Amino acid sequence: MIAPMSAEKTEEEWRRILTPEQYAILREKGTERAFTGAYWDLKKDGTYECAGCGTLLFDSRTKYDSGSGWPSFWEPVAEERIRLVDDRTHGMHRIEAVCANCGGHLGHVFPDGPKPTGTRFCINSASLAFTPREE
Ligand code: FE
Repeated sequence: MIAPMSAEKTEEEWRRILTPEQYAILREKGTERAFTGAYWDLKKDGTYECAGCGTLLFDSRTKYDSGSGWPSFWEPVAEERIRLVDDRTHGMHRIEAVCANCGGHLGHVFPDGPKPTGTRFCINSASLAFTPREE
């Protein structure tokens, strides 16, 4: 697991730390193209941390194949790790998911997930860093 870093950074520091793709998504609320990210089809056992600050956000045990082309989870490891924000951009009304620690854009949340929560956390691969579970 990546040690959580300080969440207080200037945009210049973020640009230095993140790859251009990570910066465009985490800091400028971009979206990677469906079926192109590193993790949409990953089925390995492990955890997913925020690519910006290292905070543990999701566990592979709550990951499922939504058919969307983005990593999809029905639950974060803890509710308070993710901040939900009203998003009315692009002519839609959606709920944006943001890392509560560093403010990085993760993706969106939809009410069409599987049981037990019925919630789909639709997250960009570029916003995540996967760590395989140790045996
Ligand atoms: Fe973060």
